[in-house]
Amino acid sequence: MSTTATGTLTDHLAEFQSAYDELKARGLKLDLTRGKPSADQLALSDALLTLPGDGEYTDAAGADLRNYGGPNGLPELRAIYSELLQIPVPQLLALGNSSLTLMHDVLTFAMLHGVPGSARPWVREETVSFLCPVPGYDRHFAITEALGVRMIPVPMNEDGPDIAAVKAAIAVDPTVKGIWCVPVYSNPTGAVYSESVARELASLEAADDFRIMWDNAYAVHHLTDWRPEPIDILSLAAEAGHPDRVFVFASTSKVTYPGSGVAFFGSSPDNVRWYSKWAAFQSIGPDKLNQLRHVRLLETAEGVLAHMEKHRALVAPKFAAVQEVFERRLAPFGVGSWGDPKGGYFVTLTVSPGVAKRAIALAAEAGVAITPAGSTHPYLDDPEDAVIRIAPTFPTIEDLTAGLEAFCTALLLAEAERSALPPVE
Ligand code: PMP
Repeated sequence: MSTTATGTLTDHLAEFQSAYDELKARGLKLDLTRGKPSADQLALSDALLTLPGDGEYTDAAGADLRNYGGPNGLPELRAIYSELLQIPVPQLLALGNSSLTLMHDVLTFAMLHGVPGSARPWVREETVSFLCPVPGYDRHFAITEALGVRMIPVPMNEDGPDIAAVKAAIAVDPTVKGIWCVPVYSNPTGAVYSESVARELASLEAADDFRIMWDNAYAVHHLTDWRPEPIDILSLAAEAGHPDRVFVFASTSKVTYPGSGVAFFGSSPDNVRWYSKWAAFQSIGPDKLNQLRHVRLLETAEGVLAHMEKHRALVAPKFAAVQEVFERRLAPFGVGSWGDPKGGYFVTLTVSPGVAKRAIALAAEAGVAITPAGSTHPYLDDPEDAVIRIAPTFPTIEDLTAGLEAFCTALLLAEAERSALPPVE
C-alpha cells in the first residue's frame, strides 16, 4: 500500500471518489489517444499546398516528374535525407507517403520470397518469430501479428532493448528472424539507443536472415537542445560481418503532413536490390511531384532541422504540461512514474500493476479517451496492466491540460480502489 505525507492512498478513497463524481458530471469530451501533429503543426508546411508551383515539374536532371518512372525517388530529396539518416544516396530510396506501408511490404516480401540469406520464404518456415521490445509501438506489433509472425516481448531499457534478454531469447529459439527497433525517441518511452546497444544488435549471433527493423521515425524530432549521437547502423552491421542485417525506415510524416509525406527505405546494396525487385511488381514509380514539393519546402538537411525547430516551439510546451500536471497531481501521492523524453511524440506513464485498464476505463466514462491499456505490448497484452501511453501533441494545450487533470482524477481513484483491496495472499 502506498503511503503519502498525509496517510495511505486508501485514506483518500472517499475524497478521490467525490472528485471523480464531480468530474463525470462535467460531461467532458477530450481525446488524448493518437500521436498526431496538431493543426498548427500541420500549418507549418502549408506551402506544400501551392508548391512546386505553376509549370514546375522537372527535377535537377530535367526528368518530367509528372510521368511514370524514377522508382528510387527524387535524387535531390534522397540527398537531403541521406545526410539526416547517414545512409549513402544509392542505398536510400524515397517512396510513397507511409513508412508503415514499407515495413508491411518488406515483411510481406520476406514471407513470400525470403530475404537475402534466407534458406526459403519465411512462410515456409514452421514458425517465424520477432523480438518486440516493450513498451513498443502498437502498429509494429499489428503488422507482425497480421502476417502470422509470433511475437516475443523483450524489455526495453533507457538505452535500447535489454541485450541480455535479446541474446537469451535468440539462444533458445532458432525461429527468431528479427527485432523491431525505434532507435531515436522510441515510441512510447522516448528511449534513445546507445551506440553500444546498436553495436550489440548489429553483431548478434542470429539466423543468417535475421533482420533489424530500424524504424527511425523520430530522428529529427527533438524537444531540447540535446542531440543524440548519430548511429550509422548500416556500417555497424557491415563491420560486424552482417551487411544485410538492417532495414532502415523513416518518413516526413511528422515533419510535414502525415497524410501526404514521403517515406524512405535504406539498407545494404543487396537488400535495396531485393526490395526494388519485388516492389517493381506493385508500382511504376512513386509520387515524385510530392517529393519535388518537399525538396522546395525543406531545401536542405539544415532546412529540415530548422523546420523541426518550429515544431519544437509548438510541441515542447505540451510535453512540459504533462510533466507539470503529473508532478502536481500524482507525485504527492506517490502514484505513477513517468518519463521526461527529450523528443518524439509520447510520454510513458507506469502505474501500479492491475491499475492501467481501470484508470483508462474510468477516464473514458468521464469523457476522456486515452490510448487503450495494453497497446504498448504484443497481442495488446500488458501482463502487468501497468503501462499507459500519453500522446500530448494533437489537442490544444488547454484541452491537453484539462484531459490530463481529468485523467489524474481517474487514476488516483483507480489507485486508491486498488490499495483498498485486501492484500493478495
Ligand atoms: N513509426 C513509428 C515509431 C511511429 O510512431 C509512427 C507514427 N505514429 C510511424 C512509424 C508512422 O509512420 P508513417 O506515417 O511514415 O507510416
